[in-house]
Amino acid sequence: MHHPAVPFLDLRAAHEPLRPRLRAALDEALDSSAFAGGPFVERFESEFARFCGARHAVGVGSGTEAIWLALAALGVGSGDEVITSPATFMATAEAITFCGATPVFADIDPRTHTLDPEAVEAAITPRTRAIIPVHLYGQMADMDPILAIARRHGLRVIEDACQAHGAEYHGRRAGTLGDAGCFSFYPGKNLGAIGEAGAVVTDQPELAEAVATLREHGQTRKYHHRRIGWNARMDGLQALVLSVKLEGLSEGNQRRQLHARRYDELLAGAPEVVAPSTAEGRTHVFHLYVVRVADRDRVLAELARRGVMCGIHYPVPVHLQPAYRGLCYREGSLPHAEQGAREVLSLPMFPELAASQLERVAHELRDVLARPVRLELT
Ligand SMILES: *Cc1c(COP(=O)(O)O)cnc(C)c1O
Repeated sequence: MHHPAVPFLDLRAAHEPLRPRLRAALDEALDSSAFAGGPFVERFESEFARFCGARHAVGVGSGTEAIWLALAALGVGSGDEVITSPATFMATAEAITFCGATPVFADIDPRTHTLDPEAVEAAITPRTRAIIPVHLYGQMADMDPILAIARRHGLRVIEDACQAHGAEYHGRRAGTLGDAGCFSFYPGKNLGAIGEAGAVVTDQPELAEAVATLREHGQTRKYHHRRIGWNARMDGLQALVLSVKLEGLSEGNQRRQLHARRYDELLAGAPEVVAPSTAEGRTHVFHLYVVRVADRDRVLAELARRGVMCGIHYPVPVHLQPAYRGLCYREGSLPHAEQGAREVLSLPMFPELAASQLERVAHELRDVLARPVRLELT
């Protein structure tokens, strides 16, 4: 295929200027043989904890493992319920299921696509043990009311911050408001490895220690296993790469914010597009720039035909995934999440986007929306 006029994501553009430093990172890994865990992981952990404003960070193999091990370290297990958002990537719910607990979905606030605190409170039962707010698209969930509900009911709060590196809620960074914050460094995230990686951040030393033990087969000393764990270590090479890329994270986030503001301007006055909204007191880091449109699938296909590549995050809300049919949610049970899944469209968003590309995206989108449904004449 030809290069699209505007790709959805361009990781090569992000890595090209860093190539000499990334090659040096590989040399350092080869020279030291510190491949699985080890000193480079420890260094990145302290750098990332400092970036977030947390006391501890524990590097693991992925964001999915971060959520899973945070839940396990808090003692969430069989018979427990964990309330989360249906507007998320499957991993949030899978982690709950893999602990032996049951995910319970509460509806979202349609303006921010994050958990509606009132819906969370309504979903609490005697079995509820924890809440996982998801900071979707780069904007944090409404944490103050969620934390207040958790305190009232004695629940743990684990933030799914996999899309929100550096996002803020009244000046506090994602991952530091709940008991633990979980991050993914999947290549396309705002901070991405050149493979898989993740981390749990927390201020609680016992919790950090528990996650660190679980990621290493439950061992506290080599071949002495205090509990059943797993192999969920972070790679030394990924930690080296992440230390290099962490230096550019704040600038990357600022560029995303500028691009978002430009999209807002270019799309203003187009009544068929609902632009993303940022709630009062929150700093959005635009992992994704997500608009709502009617007839979304036609718009997506027509833009792709014109070389503007968009995404859908996510086309099926988690409560309606076939994998969770056993939970018996019906269509219509979480209407805001379901309407979101029908309407959301993620426009190209990455720090290296050019001004001309932003203009092209907005122009093509407005043009597609201004035309009546194309008649398919065969
Ligand atoms: C990416 C992501 C995850 C999972 O992270 P991985 O590193 O891919 O395992 C979990 N939750 C959300 C919201 C994500 O975007």
